Formats: sequence, structure tokens, C-alpha cells
Amino acid sequence: MRVLVIGSGAREHALVLAASHDPAVTALACAPGNAGTASVSETLGVDLTDPAAVARLAVSWKADLVVIGPEVPLVAGAADAVRAAGVPCFGPSAEAARIEGSKSFAKEVMAAAGVPTARSEVVDNPAHLDAALARFGPTWVVKDDGLAAGKGVVVTDDLDRARTHALMLLDGGHPVVLESFLDGPEASLFCLVDGRTVVPLLPAQDFKRVGDDDMGPNTGGMGAYAPLPWAPEKLVDEVVSTIVRPVVDELARRGTPFTGLLYAGLALTSSGPQVIEFNCRFGDPETQVVLALLRSPLARLLHATATGTLAEQPPLEWADGAAVTVVVAADGYPGKPRVGDLITGSEAEGVLHAGTRRRDDGAVVSYGGRVLSVVGTGPDLAAAREQAYERVSRINLPGAHHRSDIAARAARGELS
Ligand code: ATP
Repeated sequence: MRVLVIGSGAREHALVLAASHDPAVTALACAPGNAGTASVSETLGVDLTDPAAVARLAVSWKADLVVIGPEVPLVAGAADAVRAAGVPCFGPSAEAARIEGSKSFAKEVMAAAGVPTARSEVVDNPAHLDAALARFGPTWVVKDDGLAAGKGVVVTDDLDRARTHALMLLDGGHPVVLESFLDGPEASLFCLVDGRTVVPLLPAQDFKRVGDDDMGPNTGGMGAYAPLPWAPEKLVDEVVSTIVRPVVDELARRGTPFTGLLYAGLALTSSGPQVIEFNCRFGDPETQVVLALLRSPLARLLHATATGTLAEQPPLEWADGAAVTVVVAADGYPGKPRVGDLITGSEAEGVLHAGTRRRDDGAVVSYGGRVLSVVGTGPDLAAAREQAYERVSRINLPGAHHRSDIAARAARGELS
């Protein structure tokens, strides 16, 4: 099977690495890729925002399966274009991808499906903002309705800050979603969905804030771990039956079935799991830890998802133990990152690349905000953490920063 992975983050590096271990895979390419994916797969060029270009590449490279990593091409319709060109594609249609691309659409689907989530209101006129804010908070949760790479959300007890963020979004022409605050630990559950059949993967937890102890602004994700030793045993079954299955059924009922990876971002509140967000693709950085533990052949699973045959697949197999990933970010991230810095030590085991590129002289340099995602595994979270941080300590990138507390509370046996 010839597998083409679209994207250039650590998630895509994890995907090509896992696919490279699947005996069914005969050729592997990544477009546009990074310095890390280039060591396990062929690197091809593509404009991620151009669905027709993705489809042309799939046909010209003779792909048997296209796996689309990021949300931007999915929301733009890349999966539709690839399927229309006759190539099986792992990823939802543009219509189904709206579950991530529009938070107000996601809320509407959840309401129709009876899925527990925060109360919300959409504000698209600054004149209505103050009255709407008065119906929420404190704590206020203010979100960009559309895609913002994890940086469109402000959660604050400061009304002025909530108001300023909302006005900034509205000024830019972006509708704002206000939500009630959900209390409780967060978890992410990835599910493979082929339109009908739902196959959950291991639950994971990510760390969105830039600083230790969840301080500072939100980011695309600074680290993650799996599994969740503190989570109730029935969590996965409960989330599938009360959240994922009703949403999958609702999308199918509307004639826009979901195919690909449905990611439920959850708050585990005292009244049960509630949805914070849906994503329409593998999460980054959680993918890096979930795939580090998956033993079933990945490409076969993704192909079965793309072709509607998930129900015929054997049960998933997982490694015992745990995995932790720590993101190494460039100076300035989550603001404007400094790029072009020389990285040493990045070609080691467990080091997945995100914003990297190889210069003509062979050196690997930074090329984005999140630069590397360093994975450790072990018999338990404490051991996996130790390995991940030991691997981070061998990397040199001027001005880089990372969190030092990824999975720390869970490894100590505290609810995290
Ligand atoms: P973006 O829209 O910028 O791409 P995103 O889709 O990642 O961001 P969310 O996952 O909705 O945004 O929110 C980011 C983080 O903000 C969550 O992981 C959570 O920590 C916090 N958050 C979001 N909504 C709520 C809520 N209703 N209650 C409590 N915390 C929330």
C-alpha cells in the first residue's frame, strides 16, 4: 500500500513513523513534511490550502491511501477532492469537518444529538457583547468561532480581558462564542470513525498553556501523556455512548457522515464528561503518545476507516505502560517564533520533528513555533516522563523553551 500523509507537524512525523512499521506499506510519502519525516518517507511539495493540488498529488504519486493530518486542508475540502479523484482518503468531508471549523456548528450538532456541553451564545455584533457577557462568568470563556490554531480562546476571571479579546475578534470580523465555564480535569479521546463504526483509541491528556502550572496563554499544545491512570475505567465506554456515537449518528442523519478521526476534547465534570471541543483530525501532541503505544498496524486501520470497513478489523492492540511527550518550542512561541536557529541532537530516538527544515549544508534548523515533540515510553508514567525529559536534555536549540511539568501530577498519582 502506497501511503501519502499530508502535513508537516510532529503529528505527521508520528503518523509516518507508525505507518513505516506496518508491513502492508510499500511506499510512504509526506507533503510538505519536515526534516524528521524526510528520514522515514519521501518528501513531496504541496500547498495545504489547495484541495485540488492535494488531489493531483495523490493521483500523480499513485497513492492507495491519503491521510490528511491538519484541520486547514480538511475544512477547505481536501478529503472531498482526493475521494473525487478516486483515491481512498482518511479525513472527513468539508461538511463534516465543520464540527471543528465552526464552534457554533458543533454546538448546534451537539444540541440536536443531546450531547452534554457548556451553555453557549454566539455574538456577532459588538453592540450585543456587554449584555451577553453579563449572562456568563466569572469565569468567562471567550472563543473565536473559527479556526485559530489553539490560540483563539481566552479563559479568564477578568471581565475587561474577556471583553477586550471578544472585541478584538469582532473587529477582525470573527463571530465570538461565549461559553459557561466547565470545571474538572480535561481528557482527549480519539475515535476512528468510518461513517458508522466507532473505534476509540486510548484516552490522553494534553497541556495547552505555555507555562508550568498551566500559566500563560494557550498554545497548540505543549505536551501530552497516555493512558490516564486516574480516569474511571468506564470513561471510554461512557464517552463513546453519550458523546461520540450520538454525534456520529447525527452527522450521518444529516447526510454528511464523518469519516476519519473524531477527537472529543472533554472536561470531566462532577456531573459527567462534557464536550469542550471537537476536532476533525488527530490531535497534536496527543497523537505522538497514543501512536507510541499502538501495536496494531496503523495504515491498515486508517485504510479500513477510509473505506468503511472498520467493523471487520480485529480489536486494537496496545503496548503495556505509558508514553509522555514534551514539546520543545522556539523563542517567542506562542507569539511570533524566531526561526532559523541551529538544532543539535534532534536526530535521536523518540524525537519527532514539527517546525524544522534541513538546510542545504545538511544542518537542521527551526522553522516554526513548536519545533520538536520528544517522546518517552516506559512501564509507567514516571518512567516515560523520565525518558522524555532525558531526551529533551540532549537537544540544543538557542532560546527554546518547554514545560517541565508534563504528566508530573498524574505520575505522582494525583488527579491531573
Ligand atoms: P482554537 O479555536 O484557538 O483553535 P481550540 O479549538 O483548541 O482553540 P478549545 O479546545 O475550545 O480551543 O479551548 C482551549 C482550551 O481552553 C481548552 O483546552 C480548555 O482548557 C479551555 N476551555 C475551553 N472551553 C472551556 C470551557 N467551556 N470551560 C473551561 N475551560 C475551557
